[in-house]
Amino acid sequence: MASFLEFLDEEDSEFFGAKLRPARACGKSVVPRVRAFRTVRTCWSGAASARRLLMPARETEAIILKTFPLGEADRVVSFLGRSSGRMRGVAAGARRLKNRFGSTLELLSHVQVWYVERETRELVRIQQADLLESFHKAQSDYGLSTGLAVVSEIAELVLPEREVSEPMFRLILLVTREIERRGNWELPLSYFAFWTVRLGGWLPRFDRCSSCQKAFGADAAFCDRRHGGLYCNQCRRADMKPLQREASELAERFTGERLDRIATEKVSVASARELRAAALAWIEFNVERRLTTPELLETA
Ligand SMILES: [Zn+2]
Repeated sequence: MASFLEFLDEEDSEFFGAKLRPARACGKSVVPRVRAFRTVRTCWSGAASARRLLMPARETEAIILKTFPLGEADRVVSFLGRSSGRMRGVAAGARRLKNRFGSTLELLSHVQVWYVERETRELVRIQQADLLESFHKAQSDYGLSTGLAVVSEIAELVLPEREVSEPMFRLILLVTREIERRGNWELPLSYFAFWTVRLGGWLPRFDRCSSCQKAFGADAAFCDRRHGGLYCNQCRRADMKPLQREASELAERFTGERLDRIATEKVSVASARELRAAALAWIEFNVERRLTTPELLETA
């Protein structure tokens, strides 16, 4: 894990070695680093809201994972809070033409959000969101946004609700930045899928068959979404896809190098695709769901 630690900057290295943990029941105990720092200032109408007036707002740095309409004026927003984990909240009025959220709720926007927990309700109330970092180019380009959609769908599937995941937070941010910077999702998406599998603890051995243990050597390995491993030519099922030696070497590079230091032109597109396909298959196998967004991928 040493290299991933390095790519995620020098700060907060204690997170490494931390794997995605299995989902467990929601509870306030899993959001220890959320700071309750100020009181709701929104003007509430009605006497019943007097109590809520004093309910403290929480603040967290966050990545917007997804939004969908709620009624005529509101949006439900799924976000990954750095200090809260993945949460869902209501952004009241966000569908109105002029609203206080502006462009902060775009796919994978990096924001600071203020929200209020609502007793007995699963959805928090999002009061305010400030843009920390814009990925406007990727968000507004159809081809690039198909890449962002894959990141978003996978994050929604693998991240348990309300569990802090610093490695995934940094991985998503790094990959989104790189899609924006390169104007291309090929390599960033392969990197994202590979590291998601790795952080999930789902990576098979790349040097020998998961079934008979025979070393692959220079031969291709094989995989599909119905099996978690990598198989030799003898053990493979008929419709498994190959992972050539070059794609395995790319996996080694991903393990040891930061994405922003890997030049697009130094990597074969075929290897990046093979490794991405394998990683997506392992994700599907482990979450027991079919991903829908990879089929929509379009190059810009
Ligand atoms: Zn075998």
